[in-house]
Amino acid sequence: MHCSKCKGLMVQERLSDYFLVCYAWKCLNCGAMVDPTIKENQRKQPPANAPEPISP
Ligand SMILES: [Zn+2]
Repeated sequence: MHCSKCKGLMVQERLSDYFLVCYAWKCLNCGAMVDPTIKENQRKQPPANAPEPISP
C-alpha cells in the first residue's frame, strides 16, 4: 500500500480505542493516517449536550 498523497510507503499502525483494537495505515514519508474508522467514530460522537442524530 502506498500513500495517496505522496506515494510513500505505508505501514500498519496498531490503535487501541478502549477495548477495541484496530489497525490504521500510516505513511512513513508524510505521516498521513488512513483509517476509515477514525472518521466514522468522529461522525458518531455528537457534541456535549447534543442528542444523538437519528438517521432516517
Ligand atoms: Zn504520504
